[in-house]
Amino acid sequence: MLRNKPSMLEKNAPMDNTRTDPIFTQEDREAEARRLAACICARGKTTIQCLRCGNLCFGRKFRPCPSHPKIVFLYDIRACSVCQGTLKHLEELPIDFETYQKLMRVGPARSSP
Ligand SMILES: [Zn+2]
Ligand SMILES: [Zn+2]
Repeated sequence: MLRNKPSMLEKNAPMDNTRTDPIFTQEDREAEARRLAACICARGKTTIQCLRCGNLCFGRKFRPCPSHPKIVFLYDIRACSVCQGTLKHLEELPIDFETYQKLMRVGPARSSP
């Protein structure tokens, strides 16, 4: 070995330059990016209809996040508050809050004109 004195550069040179880590191939990075892109933790609320009793509510239907399967949001809706219908009865509708409120106002709950 010709390196008789320790070079200062060696300290600063990152090990990763020479080592190809199998965990972080380009493909893995893309997969990771896709996984994070699939994150639904920050999804907005929407109108949810119970297919069993027709009840409408506004919130988020419980769904495990593909990126963070262990994170649970307590306020996500897992069951219909009226008939206790389960997740399979809950359907997310592409209806925003404004429209949801209008629907509630003209809904069957109101009987007098
Ligand atoms: Zn997430
Ligand atoms: Zn219901």
